Order: sequence, then structure tokens, then C-alpha cells
Amino acid sequence: MKALPPALAAAVGPVPEGVTLPLPPVFDTVEEERRHRKEQLAAGFRLFGRFGFSEGVAGHITVRDPERQDAFWVNPFGRSFHRIKASDLILVDHEGTLFHGDRPVNRAAFVIRSQVHAARPDAVAAAHAHSLHGTAFSSLGIPLDPITQDACAFFEDHGIYDDYRGVVNEREEGERVAKALGSYKAVILKNHGLLTVGHSVAEAVWWFVTMERSCQAQLPAMAAGTPRPIDRETALITRGQVGTPLARWFQARPLWDRITASDPDLVD
Ligand SMILES: [Zn+2]
Repeated sequence: MKALPPALAAAVGPVPEGVTLPLPPVFDTVEEERRHRKEQLAAGFRLFGRFGFSEGVAGHITVRDPERQDAFWVNPFGRSFHRIKASDLILVDHEGTLFHGDRPVNRAAFVIRSQVHAARPDAVAAAHAHSLHGTAFSSLGIPLDPITQDACAFFEDHGIYDDYRGVVNEREEGERVAKALGSYKAVILKNHGLLTVGHSVAEAVWWFVTMERSCQAQLPAMAAGTPRPIDRETALITRGQVGTPLARWFQARPLWDRITASDPDLVD
């Protein structure tokens, strides 16, 4: 492990003597980093399975290869999220060329992801699933409101794609999804579900989990009355506080602790 990057060290601030703070790993070799990304991806699928985000064969998480920036790792089509191991993952490029693996890729996953990864070089990972509350909320065609501290993470930082035309199978549709995502951390695909991106698998998965929860909170709040949102200035400050790279990574730690302890075979 190398020393922390200066920006991250500044974000952590002074750590009292004798206190050990969990920190994101830094890698010496591309092979180490690839292995880590694949293990994180397998763990992400196991978590999605535990959260009940799977719906048949729908849903996918991807992570860019650390060496081949035009290629990304994704789940083999049709394999249960609950069973995915690091060795099951397949590597494809933006043109659909298969570099690693012996299973087909979900065509819809490839079309969306290739355009999102191409349009957003900073998006190392992306997550999408047909989760219950995300899909229900998506039918409203409205953005998430800053009605809770957690929902502030998405305040003025997610788009809405409202041009649903059936299962995504055309590159042009992937381009439109990428355009709706813009520079945001997430996009609500109307009548379809949520899509989140991040600088790591942990970040993309965390944004998906907490966005799904924010949808789950806003739906009953709207059904019960008229939610009173947090004011814009406070919402923006809160978004900044929960949105630092370390905060994003740290928020996801309990999930990773849980899944790596319960599912040690995911790294196989
Ligand atoms: Zn979908």
C-alpha cells in the first residue's frame, strides 16, 4: 500500500495517536487494482441480491478495467446476483468485444454502459437495477426532493430520462441515457428504474442503495401529506458534506464488512 493521496489526507484531517481509521486502498500494480475492482464488483452483486434489487435477469453493475480504459467488467447474463464470484465476471469493450469470460453479456447492459462509460471518463463504475421503490418512484417522472438528510446527496445532482421506448437495445438510446445523466451522480430512468455512477464500485453501489432508500422515504411521505423540503442552501451544504470521496467510500464500509463476512466465496 502506498501513502494516501494528499487530497484524501486533507479530507481525513488529523487523526489522534492510537486511532486507526479505515481508508480506501491504494495499489502498487494494475493487477492488484484489477483484482480489487473485481472483488468489489462481485460483492456489489451479492449486496444487490440481499437488498432484493434483482428482478429476473434485469440489472447490472459495471466497473472500468484499470488498464484498458475502454473496457469494463460486468456480470454474465442470467447468473443470480446471489451467486456471482469474481471469477464469473466478463470483460467487454465499448464495441461489445469479449476479452475475458465465456458467458454472454446482457445486451441492454452493454448498450447503456458503453455509452455512459464513454460519455463519463470519471465514471469508474455504474449500477442499475429494477428495485421496487426506484421503479415505483420513476413512474412519477419527478426528481427526488431534499426532504431528508440522506436525500440531499441527490439534490440538484440527478437527471431524469423521460423517453422510455421499451427495452434498451439501440446505441442511440444509450446515448440519450448518458445525456440525461450528464455530469450528475445518478439518473432516474422514467418507468424503468435508477442508474448511479461513481469513482469506485463501492461509491456507485452506495449511491444506488441510498437513492433507492430515498425513493422509499419520499413515496409514503407524499402519500401522507405534503413533505416540507430542506431549504436550498442547507441542502447544498449537506450534499457537499455527504459527497466527499472519503464520505462516499466510508458510508459503504458497513455493507462491505457484512457481505465479505457472510459470503467469503465471492472473491473466488
Ligand atoms: Zn433496466
